[in-house]
Amino acid sequence: MNVKNILTNLETKHPGEKEYLQAVHEVLESIESIYNENPQYESAKIIERLVEPDRILTFRVSWVDDEGQVHVNLGYRIQFNNAIGPYKGGIRLHPSVNLSILKFLGFEQTFKNALTTLPLGGAKGGSDFNPKGKSDAEIMRFCQAFMLELWRVIGPNTDVPAGDIGTGGREIGYMYGMYKKLQVENTGVFTGKGLNWGGSLVRPEATGFGATYFTSEMLASNNDSFQGKIVTVSGFGNVAWGVALKVTELGGKVVTISGPDGYIYDEKGLNADKIDYLLALRASNNDIVSPYADEFPEAKFIAGKKPWEVKCDIAMPSATQNELNGEDAAKLIANGVKYVAEVSNMGCTPEAIEALHNAKIPFGPGKAVNAGGVGVSGLEMSQNAMKLNWTTEEVDAKLHQMMSSIHSACIKFGTEDDGYINYAKGANIAGFIKVADAMLDQGIV
Ligand code: GLU
Repeated sequence: MNVKNILTNLETKHPGEKEYLQAVHEVLESIESIYNENPQYESAKIIERLVEPDRILTFRVSWVDDEGQVHVNLGYRIQFNNAIGPYKGGIRLHPSVNLSILKFLGFEQTFKNALTTLPLGGAKGGSDFNPKGKSDAEIMRFCQAFMLELWRVIGPNTDVPAGDIGTGGREIGYMYGMYKKLQVENTGVFTGKGLNWGGSLVRPEATGFGATYFTSEMLASNNDSFQGKIVTVSGFGNVAWGVALKVTELGGKVVTISGPDGYIYDEKGLNADKIDYLLALRASNNDIVSPYADEFPEAKFIAGKKPWEVKCDIAMPSATQNELNGEDAAKLIANGVKYVAEVSNMGCTPEAIEALHNAKIPFGPGKAVNAGGVGVSGLEMSQNAMKLNWTTEEVDAKLHQMMSSIHSACIKFGTEDDGYINYAKGANIAGFIKVADAMLDQGIV
């Protein structure tokens, strides 16, 4: 395989899809040698097949706001790869959503889901709908309109959507309600459902908890722990609060959170009360964090900036793609950062990752670090299929196990000659081998 040629072809076929091309580039670079050592991959054109989604559905979503105005949004579902199990991945509702972003997310999801140890294929969907400032009734009408198209292509053994940025428990409820109405069946076709209608314990906090367990493993490989560590976190959505809660429980101090308006620096660190306050703030359909500084006077709000200028031991970007760039990485390194665990999907730019690798700072990539979210989604599917519920302890133990096995896979495939663990390379190779071998077994389809 010649990575350059493949990328040039892809750029010609998909001009301007920069996030998608970035994600493909990152994976191809790390699997190049393993690919070339195994000629069976080349002869089955595994790469050419793996980089293109199985299919893409795009559709119009028309809905009416509280004033009676009609709105038109775009809806998508990218069914990326189902070699190892039914398509699985979240629904992102955000004005930035476009084909490139969803293709990158679906591609990443395919590898991430392979890492979970569960039989889950990769998918992603969403819409450019902006939930910010919308009433509950508007959110419901949008979700229902979205499902009027999506229901046709999903099913408990076909494609199982879930939450992502802008889609939480409430949105999943509205979408699932409409799905059942149209399909006349009560199956777990979504994950992240409410606890009293098929959801799993620990699913809401799973991404953040799993990310913290993975980071603990990174620390433990250096005989280190979260105890007494200063941790910077960005975002305060579906994921960041679980990170803050678990890191705090393990003895670390989370000193930042952020929104599109800027970041909060709280020297004393977040605690359970502050996290409750943040959750209530989020529930108001608002993504601004500045009110936190009014509520807790020890905290400062720094407008229009990102938290990567704050001195810390561990940085955990938990907001969105490309939120930590080369300059941010340079600041973190200069301030003595010891670990970076990417909790968001592709949260770090290629320049940031390169800088961290050059400085030999352990960097956990999103597809490994945040896999606990979809991992517990997989456990929710198992519970639904068996029509029973596991306890918090059972789910949490399985999540722990999963994160630890992902960490071992990264070590197995990512340890370099000098002992530095290249987690990104390890995760890419482990995910790739699983999907590629399944594709080989199943012939040219
Ligand atoms: N959206 C989450 C992710 O990026 C969760 C997906 C799921 O649970 O299916 O992995």
